Amino acid sequence: MECQEILKILSDYVDGELSENRCAEIRKHMEECSRCRKFAETFRESLELARKLERKQAPQSVCESVLRAFREARAGKGN
Ligand SMILES: [Zn+2]
Repeated sequence: MECQEILKILSDYVDGELSENRCAEIRKHMEECSRCRKFAETFRESLELARKLERKQAPQSVCESVLRAFREARAGKGN
């Protein structure tokens, strides 16, 4: 699985909406990819913070803005 795949399904992963097989693939990727691991942590923390502030499910816009920031950071750094 590639980083882009992870990004696409990360919000479902964090919400526990993926099958066990899919979760296992993501965890395997994260063992090898510190970038995605860090991002998943940040993503989860952002959602938790948003939920605390809003006292309800994080609005989709929060997920979108976090994902966008990550994509831009990756694009900016290059390889
Ligand atoms: Zn990755």
